[in-house]
Amino acid sequence: MRFTIRTYGCQMNVRDSEAVEALMLEKGYEKAESEEDADIVIINSCTVRQKAEEKAIGKAGNMIAAGKQVWMIGCAVKRLGADLYRRLPKVSFAATPEELAAKPEFASAHVVNGFQAFVTVMTGCNNRCSYCIVPAVRGPEKSRPEADIFAEVEFLAGKGVREVTLLGQSVLRYNGFPRLLRRIAGIDGIERIRFTSAHPSGCTDELVEVYRDCPKVCRHLHLPVQSGSDRVLAEMGRRYTRAEYLAAVAKLRAFDPEFSVTTDVIVGYPGETEEDFEATRSLMEEAQFDNAFVFKYSPRPGTRSALLADDVSTEEKERRDQVLLADQERRGQKRNDALAGSVREVLVEGPSKRNPDRWSGRDSGNRIVVWDADDPASRRTPGEFARIKILEAHPQILVGEIERRSP
Ligand code: SAH
Ligand code: SF4
Repeated sequence: MRFTIRTYGCQMNVRDSEAVEALMLEKGYEKAESEEDADIVIINSCTVRQKAEEKAIGKAGNMIAAGKQVWMIGCAVKRLGADLYRRLPKVSFAATPEELAAKPEFASAHVVNGFQAFVTVMTGCNNRCSYCIVPAVRGPEKSRPEADIFAEVEFLAGKGVREVTLLGQSVLRYNGFPRLLRRIAGIDGIERIRFTSAHPSGCTDELVEVYRDCPKVCRHLHLPVQSGSDRVLAEMGRRYTRAEYLAAVAKLRAFDPEFSVTTDVIVGYPGETEEDFEATRSLMEEAQFDNAFVFKYSPRPGTRSALLADDVSTEEKERRDQVLLADQERRGQKRNDALAGSVREVLVEGPSKRNPDRWSGRDSGNRIVVWDADDPASRRTPGEFARIKILEAHPQILVGEIERRSP
């Protein structure tokens, strides 16, 4: 039997799909070349917004119609419960994220291909942000033992992994996180350490000291802000104010002005006024984000905010979305313009899919850096470092050339 996995949603789902793949291979299933070639299509669903859930359900319906065996996993399975079988009676198998995580071999099952890997440090979430369905579908927060995480990264390093991304809904809440970072930085072969997501309360002096002492810990933090209005932040239950959030960003940028800070924002939260929205706009300007993901509010059943009227119209959500994206486009250009002429230390990912003469990689700040490699001397092995001199900046990409050393 041949299988393929389609993954929707966040990095936790990407990680879960990888573990499922490893367990399937171990049980003797084979990986299909393509969807057409598969007997079983595993759909790893997301439910964080209504649209995401619909995509996964739609895909499942299409695959069933195409005669495939469909297995459903992921967050929508938990949210839908018995409704899943009402909507898709022909689903062959379903498991929630917690049911998968309960398998003892699940946490450490890996398919190592390439030099990058995700490592789960915490599952679930104990926060109760008013709009968010994650705690309901992924359960309470659980930290993995430090020794298990450490052993897993050592194992991955032995398989050639050079960059690990530590995952949790609020990783900085991990007890002793700075110490964990220092220990992982000491593992031979590991060259880069990333982690996500973060909460501003975790941006402590101790964390900055880790950045200072450990260059392997990447100069990038994904720090979802959601709103710039104190009134909305309080209603959301985010447990920080605008000023506290901005102080966290300022601390990172004081350490390194090039420190890359990215964020998530929700527009059209119930009762979000024009004034609240303008507060989000000005916060984004003050924070000088390097990149931002903007989401239109979508009520999720069972959350606190689902009890409030979803009173910002679809058109207005769309308008606010567009305004923030246009602002970010200008801001991204300005942030990146400041990097023109600099040399970025890039971990090489390989030739771009569309144009094999163009290679790409990422710098420590997670910025995408591309360079011309039609000349074989400009090619590098994926997973190696390259030094790229930046010639041209765009809002979301830096273009350069391999640094030529003077003779
Ligand atoms: N744990 C992370 C966020 C996980 S959910 C944190 O707290 O920062 C990923 C993103 O989806 C959130 O940051 C938020 O911007 C968005 N999101 C979550 N629920 C949403 C909803 N009901 N409507 C629109 N966007 C939502
Ligand atoms: Fe947890 Fe809040 Fe993040 Fe949702 S948005 S996963 S509730 S911290």
